[in-house]
Amino acid sequence: MANTAYTSTQSQPHGAHTFFRKLNGPWHRRTLRAFMIIVIAHWAEHLVQAYQVYVLGWPLHQARGVLGQAFPWLVHSEVLHYGYALIMLVGIWMLLPGFVGRSRTWWLAALVIQFWHHIEHALLQGQVIAGQTLFGASAPTSIVQLWIPRLELHLVYNGLVFVPMIVAMYYHLFPSAPDAARMRCRCALRPHPATT
Ligand SMILES: [Zn+2]
Repeated sequence: MANTAYTSTQSQPHGAHTFFRKLNGPWHRRTLRAFMIIVIAHWAEHLVQAYQVYVLGWPLHQARGVLGQAFPWLVHSEVLHYGYALIMLVGIWMLLPGFVGRSRTWWLAALVIQFWHHIEHALLQGQVIAGQTLFGASAPTSIVQLWIPRLELHLVYNGLVFVPMIVAMYYHLFPSAPDAARMRCRCALRPHPATT
């Protein structure tokens, strides 16, 4: 395989180092694909919830997406929301080295935005653990939630993270010739249309 060549020429990487090289080299395509399926499924749940509230007119507490209809605790568990935000943050960060050139800029933007999104979830989680809410609110409240209600806020956050990820994926799957030459993974489907 073409991707094994670079590992044998390096000075004996070990453990976590080897894992990260493989993750962002030969394993990048498969891992990225699995990660994007999770991201899109989660995003779809948020969109379904918004549809239930705005189009179907369901009360917010009963609008729980698709999985949440069967497992209401999924939606009402702060630790799961925090867990997902953390998995997103770690996933975006771990897969970043595989991105080069233009796709890296967009993936990095998603990482920065997800970092802040994760801070907001950490604040929510912290209030549950402490048994006390911030700003004198009746439910756990994050900072930007002071201006934008929770359902809308997390639609905005997930959108702000999702859009740069999709742009990054586009440039990663269809890289320019110079970017393609620097990629160590097998994600590229064909050269970028602009360069052919
Ligand atoms: Zn890749």
